[in-house]
Amino acid sequence: MEKRIALFPGSFDPFTKGHEDIVLRGLQLFDEIIIAIGYNSQKSERYFDVEAMVGYIERTFKEYPNIKILKFSELTAEFARKNGARFLLRGLRNTTDFEYENSISQVNRKLYQQMESVFLITTPQLAWISSSIIREVHRYGGDVSEFLPYTLD
Ligand code: ADP
Repeated sequence: MEKRIALFPGSFDPFTKGHEDIVLRGLQLFDEIIIAIGYNSQKSERYFDVEAMVGYIERTFKEYPNIKILKFSELTAEFARKNGARFLLRGLRNTTDFEYENSISQVNRKLYQQMESVFLITTPQLAWISSSIIREVHRYGGDVSEFLPYTLD
């Protein structure tokens, strides 16, 4: 039977406990999950370095042979197709996420017809965690360790 591979794309700037939760729950549905860090290869707009983030996520999932970490700088649908991923995994926290995900999933399916987007509703205790809030706290010297599934170097 065909291996069920899901791509979990995001900026992951940084990867949080909310993201970790979606990946671990996604493992109940898929044989393999590819965590795909989207970044702009032309200019660096990130707060956390993309290579460092790959390392942190690898560390987080080192015991899981069926979780891969890749970076990409192209259309998500195209990257999924190239990697044999027919499913896109995304997390939904609130109606703002829903509005955005609704339109992006329509576009993705236009670009790659076999693609199905699969959404997991966030775990309530993790729903308020967002990468942007963590960046703000970190920028001003606050301790963000309890929101991350790894320790920052
Ligand atoms: P993007 O730049 O594509 O929005 P993010 O890195 O912010 O990427 O998020 C990637 C995915 O993880 C999105 O589907 C987002 O809704 C989901 N996500 C972000 N934070 C959480 C959280 N706390 N709980 C569950 N899902 C989340």
